[in-house]
Amino acid sequence: MSFTLAIVGRPNVGKSTLFNRLVGKRLALVDDQPGVTRDLREGDARLGDLRFTVIDTAGLEEATDESLQGRMRRLTERAVEMADACLFVVDARSGVLPADEVFADILRKKSARVILAANKAEGRAGESGLLEAYALGLGEPLRLSAEHGEGMGELAAELRPLIEAATESAPEVEPQVDIDVDEGDEVPDYVAPHSGKPLQIAVVGRPNAGKSTLINKIIGEDRLLTGPEAGITRDAISVTTDWQGTPTRIFDTAGMRKKAKVQDKLEKLSVSDGLRAVKFAEVVVVLLDVNIPFEQQDLRIADLAEREGRAVVLAVNKWDTEGEKQDKLRALKEQFNRLLPQLRGAPLITVSALTGRGLERLREAILEAHEVWNRRIPTAALNRWLTGMLEQHPPPAPQGKRIKLRYMTQAKSRPPGFVVMCSHPQLLPASYSRYLVNGLRDDFDMPGTPIRLFMRSQN
Ligand code: GDP
Ligand code: GDP
Repeated sequence: MSFTLAIVGRPNVGKSTLFNRLVGKRLALVDDQPGVTRDLREGDARLGDLRFTVIDTAGLEEATDESLQGRMRRLTERAVEMADACLFVVDARSGVLPADEVFADILRKKSARVILAANKAEGRAGESGLLEAYALGLGEPLRLSAEHGEGMGELAAELRPLIEAATESAPEVEPQVDIDVDEGDEVPDYVAPHSGKPLQIAVVGRPNAGKSTLINKIIGEDRLLTGPEAGITRDAISVTTDWQGTPTRIFDTAGMRKKAKVQDKLEKLSVSDGLRAVKFAEVVVVLLDVNIPFEQQDLRIADLAEREGRAVVLAVNKWDTEGEKQDKLRALKEQFNRLLPQLRGAPLITVSALTGRGLERLREAILEAHEVWNRRIPTAALNRWLTGMLEQHPPPAPQGKRIKLRYMTQAKSRPPGFVVMCSHPQLLPASYSRYLVNGLRDDFDMPGTPIRLFMRSQN
């Protein structure tokens, strides 16, 4: 019996492309296989010196809309039952979508052996999608490009022990932790905004918060306004300026449109425009109006910026109109902690866009948030830290199982993402992850940036 691998995942992630790469022209005659219907393609795969059978669950695109979901599910379930292991493919470029979760659920319910792969990740594309894939809770994703043949060696390395175990019933070899596994990967070192590439910020907030006043104040004096940038005008409007020596590209929402006399329906524009600006930005400045701070709309966009993995700085505008500054500041901080706990530690700066007061502090906060967002912490320091955290507060032993956190490394920056090798990660309570994230934030001084923590199963 040959080892069988099923390629599963939603349509268009690249399953067929991968299948074709593995099988080449050695496509088995599906009709001749008892029990295998036309919708499951089967082929003899060759990967380096490995030989195995591969099942492709693609070809569902022909299904009618109503039945697509159901058919996809049944087909996947059948493929999973036939296979020794599943290669679950997601699209690193589009990130993890709700449809991917459906497949993750099937794989979990069937207790399938899963190799997770983030496809279309050639070159540097799909970094964020790759990181998102960790959150599926199916282990560390492989970076693949089915089209360009990248990541095939890594795929072979994942498959080899499974194939050997299945075909020779050989004793399983204790997996080794490769201490350097994430060292020297393609995460760039911190690129200071002075080194040519402008700092990319977005100013978002409710209508009349003072966004255009703020941006005009920033760009006003030096008159380096270059106007809407060619190529991105369809998605967002930006200006590039030299902000006190820092090349800065500011993505605007309603403010600049108003200036560009494109539209003036601010109420309608601000949210969806804000969303677009957030996508382009490295640091998002959420501009609040001191007279009506933390409105629903502010909370939504701040939350979105966090979920998109952007560094966030809160700026409270129109501070010049506030009489009781001390009391107000205390109240604002209390509201911030209560209403936006996901942004714990993000800087809150009071400014007056009108007078320019506080703008220098805002600039410094933005630069610091950007630096933290880009930061990489050496693995040795992380593991020393982890040891201390574990001693201070050992993980619980739910169902009598001791959860061991063995090793951690920073897999990503922009924003920082950490992987912890862990036994029984599914049993680790969320409160313990929060303890670690808050500890990272405090001990490594990382305010104003989302921190992602992923548990990877390793016994
Ligand atoms: P399936 O529906 O999951 O079988 O997906 P396909 O194999 O048909 O691929 C869907 C689309 O993604 C096609 O246009 C492929 O050319 C493209 N594609 C597949 N793999 C890659 C890849 O590694 N990189 C890029 N950029 N595109 C890919
Ligand atoms: P936008 O809709 O967010 O772009 O807001 P605008 O920049 O158009 O500002 C809305 C109103 O608030 C205008 O009347 C501004 O003059 C006023 N405004 C903006 N910033 C300040 C500030 O710091 N202090 C005061 N007092 N008024 C401000």
